[in-house]
Amino acid sequence: MTDRDEAGRPRRAALHRRRFGGSNYVYLLQDGADAALVDPGDAAVALALADELGASPRWILHTHGHADHSGGSRQVARAFGARVLGHGADGGWFAPDEDLAGQAHLALGALRLRVRHAPGHTPGSLLLEWEGHLLTGDTLFWAGCGNCRHGGDAAALARTFLGVLAPLDGALLVEPGHDYAEANLPFVLAEEPGNGAAAARLAATQAERAAGREPPAPTLAEERVTNPFLRAGSEAAFVALRRRRDAW
Ligand SMILES: [Zn+2]
Repeated sequence: MTDRDEAGRPRRAALHRRRFGGSNYVYLLQDGADAALVDPGDAAVALALADELGASPRWILHTHGHADHSGGSRQVARAFGARVLGHGADGGWFAPDEDLAGQAHLALGALRLRVRHAPGHTPGSLLLEWEGHLLTGDTLFWAGCGNCRHGGDAAALARTFLGVLAPLDGALLVEPGHDYAEANLPFVLAEEPGNGAAAARLAATQAERAAGREPPAPTLAEERVTNPFLRAGSEAAFVALRRRRDAW
């Protein structure tokens, strides 16, 4: 990549995260003049974020189809003349202009965005990796994972954790579709009463909320210590853990 834009300014790739609806996150990826919005569940919030950053996204990317992630998709796409991209298996929710099934890379600005199919929460869930960030949608949450109640399959989610997430670089920053850390960590501590890292993380999460600050994204290595779904070890153990979380 070139390190200067057309005006000679240093090129800076950036990822912006914005909360809406309590726990949801919409993301804006920006490299030079190029940009993409990820999961614009609320059109007004996504449009305001793009406006604030002076961005004109050419893509709307979907980690999966659920309406709290895709409800604003068409309105935002129309506003920017952007194309809607996602996995066709979830296409009933957002009608993609381009089906990302079988596609491993997208070029955004001078950078490459890595796309991985991660079925389980929904059949068409995707992980998006970009510049050291891993956007996980509702597949991997801070200290938890997505449920499988709305078109999902816990065994498929287990295979995604064991086969797709397990080999990934621990230095990646985990950027989920919701902030459920404060709800998930007490379950982790019920499962693992001696997990001091999870206890410290719960205290830090509560302190951030009390101070009105957004939590910083943890690394995947930090998640592996405080998220038992990443350590389930087998499909059966993962499915049993998911079932205990559902009943908790
Ligand atoms: Zn979802």
